[in-house]
Amino acid sequence: MSSPKRVLLVFLPSESGVDNARSLYSETKSGVISAVFNRRLRTLIKKSQFAIPPLSLMILASIEVEGVEQSICDMRFEEFPFSEHWDLVGISVQTGMARKAFALADRLRQGGSRVVLGGAHVTLFADSCRPHADALVHGEADDLWRELLLDLKADTLKASYQAGFPDLTRHRPVSKHTLDISRYFTTNLIQTGRGCPHSCDFCNVHVLNGHALRRRRIDDIVDEVERFRHDDRRIFFFVDDSINADPAYALELFRKIAPLQISWFGQATTTLGQQHELLETFAQSGCKALLVGIESIEAESRSLHKKNQNRSNELAGAIKSIRNAGISLYGSFIYGLDGDTLETPRAILDFISETKLDVPGINILRPIPGTRVFERLREEGRLLFDPADITAFRYTFGQEMLYRPKNIALDAFVESYSELTRKVFTVRNSIARGLGAPSLKAAVMLFNAFYTHLYTLSRSDLKRQMEKAPAENTILP
Ligand code: SF4
Repeated sequence: MSSPKRVLLVFLPSESGVDNARSLYSETKSGVISAVFNRRLRTLIKKSQFAIPPLSLMILASIEVEGVEQSICDMRFEEFPFSEHWDLVGISVQTGMARKAFALADRLRQGGSRVVLGGAHVTLFADSCRPHADALVHGEADDLWRELLLDLKADTLKASYQAGFPDLTRHRPVSKHTLDISRYFTTNLIQTGRGCPHSCDFCNVHVLNGHALRRRRIDDIVDEVERFRHDDRRIFFFVDDSINADPAYALELFRKIAPLQISWFGQATTTLGQQHELLETFAQSGCKALLVGIESIEAESRSLHKKNQNRSNELAGAIKSIRNAGISLYGSFIYGLDGDTLETPRAILDFISETKLDVPGINILRPIPGTRVFERLREEGRLLFDPADITAFRYTFGQEMLYRPKNIALDAFVESYSELTRKVFTVRNSIARGLGAPSLKAAVMLFNAFYTHLYTLSRSDLKRQMEKAPAENTILP
C-alpha cells in the first residue's frame, strides 16, 4: 500500500500588530530600560494575545480524502518544518504578506515540494502569484479542495482551480482535530455566513465574497456549537461580516443557540441598535461583545464612501442601545475619509465620550488594492506608493500613511491623527473603559492597555514614514 500524501496548510503571521509588532519595535530607537520594557511587554502580548485559529484553513483541513493526511502550520507559534517531507504545501496569501508568502513558496519548490497558493491575494491578483506556485486556487475553496486533493493523489494536479461562490447550505462539518487548542484564546470559531449586501468602497468583503448573503443551515451551526463546546468551554466567535444583515435568520439561529448557554462575540452593523427584538435575542443567547464598523460620523464621508447602513445622527443612539443590552462594543473608526476635516477628531472624541464606547479603534483609511477606493485614489493621483507594486505596503497593525487626504494637508493630517490617538488611548481611559464596560471588563481593560502601548509605537512609526514620504506635489503613476 502506498504511503499517504502529506499536505500542510500554512498560516503566515502579519509583520507586526498584536500578533507580532516586529516592524514597530525593531525600528524604534530606545534606551536600555525601554528596550527591556518593550521586550517584556511583547512577550506578554504574545502570551495573552487574542489569537484565534485560521478558520479558512480549519475548513479545508476538515475535508477528508482517503490516502491524504492534512495538517496546519500556524507560523505565529511554530517554525515551518523544513526537515519533513510534504507532498503539497498550501499557503493562504493576503496582500501585503505576498512577498513573504512568495519567498516561502519559492524555497519549498526549490526543495522539491509542490505549492498551492490561495486566499484573497490570489483571487484578486493571480498573475503576480503564478510564478511562485504549482497550483492556484481562485475564490472560496470549500467545494474544490476535495477535487484538488484527489488530483494530488492521482498526480494530476492542475495549474489553476477556479471556484464560484460555494453554496453554504451544503453540509460541511468543521473539525478541530488539527489544532493545538491550548495555543489560542478560543478555538470555538463558527462561520454562519459569507457575503455582504453593502458596498463600502474601502472594504473588500463584497469584492471577494459577493453581495448576496449566503448562510449555513441553522441546524448545522447548532450541531457544531454542541460539538465544539465538548472540548473547549471558552467563548464562541461567530464569524460573519454582518450577522444581523438577515434579521429573520439571525433571530431563528440565536433563539436556538440560547438554551446551549454559551458566551459569544461576533461582528455586526450598528443597525442592530434599532433591531430591538434581535438585540434582545443576542443578549439572551450569550452575546458578550461585538465589533461594529462605525467608520465615520461625518455625514459627507459616509455618503462619499458608500457607508449607508445608518445615518450619522442615528449612530450614537444605536451604540447606546447595544451597550444598554449588556454587550460591550469594539467600534472602529476611519479618519481621513473624503468628507473629513481637521474638525473630525474633535467630533470623534465627543462621540466616544458620549457613547462610552468600550474599545475604540482609530484607523487611517487603507486603500487596499482591489477596492474601489484604491482605484479612485489611483485615478486622482493621491496614492503615496507605486500602485503597480501591489505588495508595496506593509499591511500592519501600525497605521500607514498611504495616500493624500482630500481636504487636509498631509503634515497637518498626521499631526491631528497622532493627537487624536494620544487623547483616546491613555492608561486612565483604559481603566475607566474596563470598569465601565457592560461585559468582559478585564478583556476590555487589557485591550485598551495594549492599544495605549501599540498606538504609542505606531505614532513614532508614522513619524518615520513621513520623513520618507514623497514631496507634497509628487504624483505617483
Ligand atoms: S465594511 Fe462591513 S458593511 Fe461595509 S461592505 Fe464591508 S463588511 Fe459590508
